[in-house]
Amino acid sequence: MPDTRHTKVLIVGSGPAGYTAGVYAARAMLEPLLVQGLEPGGQLTTTTEVENWPGDTEVQGPDLMVRMEAHARSVGTEIVGDIITKLELDKRPFVAHGDSGTTYTADSVILATGARAKWLGMPSEEAYKGFGVSACATCDGFFYRGQEIVVIGGGNTAVEEALFLTNFASKVTLIHRRDELRAEKILQDRLFKNPKIETLWHHQLEEVVGEDNPKGVTGVKVRHVDTGEITEIDCKGVFVAIGHAPSNELVKDVLETHMGGYVVTQPDSTATSIPGVFAAGDLTDHKYRQAVTSAGMGCMAALEAERWLSEQELDEGKDETEPLGYGAPVDAAH
Ligand code: FAD
Ligand code: NAP
Repeated sequence: MPDTRHTKVLIVGSGPAGYTAGVYAARAMLEPLLVQGLEPGGQLTTTTEVENWPGDTEVQGPDLMVRMEAHARSVGTEIVGDIITKLELDKRPFVAHGDSGTTYTADSVILATGARAKWLGMPSEEAYKGFGVSACATCDGFFYRGQEIVVIGGGNTAVEEALFLTNFASKVTLIHRRDELRAEKILQDRLFKNPKIETLWHHQLEEVVGEDNPKGVTGVKVRHVDTGEITEIDCKGVFVAIGHAPSNELVKDVLETHMGGYVVTQPDSTATSIPGVFAAGDLTDHKYRQAVTSAGMGCMAALEAERWLSEQELDEGKDETEPLGYGAPVDAAH
């Protein structure tokens, strides 16, 4: 028998944005319901040390997310293990369909579906995904003890993955298309000092090379971006770390997006183009994409949802044809 649940605030996503929204919405007595999705805890569960979460000089990403979940739960957020497969935002209450068969109806929605790893999109990458090609060093690094590995990319993720993989690999080659990294300087220092890591500048992955019996990667062909010269590198693992794209599938056709799919919010606000629908974290943020900024936006979204819901209650009894207001930025101290 399909189940239907109603909530004042439905939070979709369980990364720093979602759990922080849960903490604030629960403390505002809104009894929020949070749907965790396929990756409970979000992107930080795929990393090891986090060194820039205020209050913790160093904390393991998965531990931090367990603590955030416990915090949200302890103040009254109901946390549900489900995946939202469809959202109907054209009428109120809003309707969300869960993969479990449960239908969630909600007076307001906070979208916090985050981002996920990008792939290069080449056939050989696809062919060896799970057989030597990965986008998660913490998930798969252990399989490459004593082996040679390449990492593609030049941002924080690529550098952190390269450093982490030296715990297992005999050698890590970081392949970057320019001669300058985007990663933070502190990470670059560690990379350049690590004797197991070699950096190959001005190169792009051309092809992943492998064998079929048993199926696995044996090397990569890389192309010099200026000369076009192809070089082969022997390796057993290829870690693609070329950035992240917003997980916007639920709303990309109904909400305004920009900069490659990030949901647009009003200035200094998490309000989207649909009144009562708020968006927080990496789903909206093409610029900072940090745990702490995501958590900050989760807080804003909950405060704005609270404000917006109170405005709807005040509007009850007024002329029904009066247009409903947007969730205005919160300017009062809470
Ligand atoms: P995410 O963490 O991306 O979480 C998204 C959530 O949405 C997930 O729980 C997912 O299950 C859920 N979801 C998605 N679709 C659905 C759906 N249809 N239904 C229900 N739920 C859904 N930042 C730092 O500040 N410091 C670091 O050291 C750091 N290290 C990082 C290391 C790595 C390897 C990576 C990949 C990122 C790192 N970041 C770091 C960035 C940081 O993880 C992100 O900025 C942050 O996690 C974004 O939080 P979020 O809540 O917006 O979304
Ligand atoms: P990113 O900062 O966008 O970097 C992506 C890297 O991949 C860039 O160096 C880019 O090259 C390269 N790239 C992109 N497309 C490519 C292609 N088609 N072929 C080859 N190379 C390609 O992404 P990220 O490293 O995943 O980081 C995402 C966000 O999470 C960032 O905001 C980051 O700060 C955050 N994060 C933070 C931490 C931390 O705080 N310790 C750790 C991980 C992630 P160019 O440089 O030439 O563009």
